[in-house]
Amino acid sequence: MTCLSFSRIQEKDFKFTSGKLEELTRYTWNTGKYSHHFCPVCGTEVAVTHDDLVVVNLRTVEGVDLTKLKLQYFDGANLL
Ligand SMILES: [Zn+2]
Repeated sequence: MTCLSFSRIQEKDFKFTSGKLEELTRYTWNTGKYSHHFCPVCGTEVAVTHDDLVVVNLRTVEGVDLTKLKLQYFDGANLL
């Protein structure tokens, strides 16, 4: 099981403070609408892009304390 904490952000409101999205390893499947971007070194999923949205894995953002956030649980396995 993968446990990720994501936040959806408009692409215009998002920027990397180091590195670039293009430096990550991109993976798509099925319709190809969603691009998953992974660290090429450790394989951590950093973000998902779709249309004008960036869905960021908050575990990869410096300074985010997940214990301070209101989390919404998503059980993707039951969508299959
Ligand atoms: Zn990494």
